[in-house]
Amino acid sequence: MNPCPRCHHPRTRHGCAPCNNRRRRTARAQLDHLAIDAAVHTRRPTPGLRPAERRAVSAQLTAHGVPAHEIARILDVTKRTVHRWRAQDRATAAA
Ligand SMILES: [Zn+2]
Repeated sequence: MNPCPRCHHPRTRHGCAPCNNRRRRTARAQLDHLAIDAAVHTRRPTPGLRPAERRAVSAQLTAHGVPAHEIARILDVTKRTVHRWRAQDRATAAA
């Protein structure tokens, strides 16, 4: 595939890894950590979380050993979505 026009890193079908990571870092800096903590600790459905915040809640609950179907209920997403997030996080951690 063509190199990224911004950083010239070879792109995969997911786009440019360095640029994606930079975007994720930026998003992480703007997370509502109080809302994330509340969802993680109460394990109750928490409406109004932004996508990056849901990802953070999912990652933290996963680290606590909470099963995917429970995370799906808390975040009002499908179990499949939780499994996809976990797979993506594993891929990012391994990269
Ligand atoms: Zn790039």
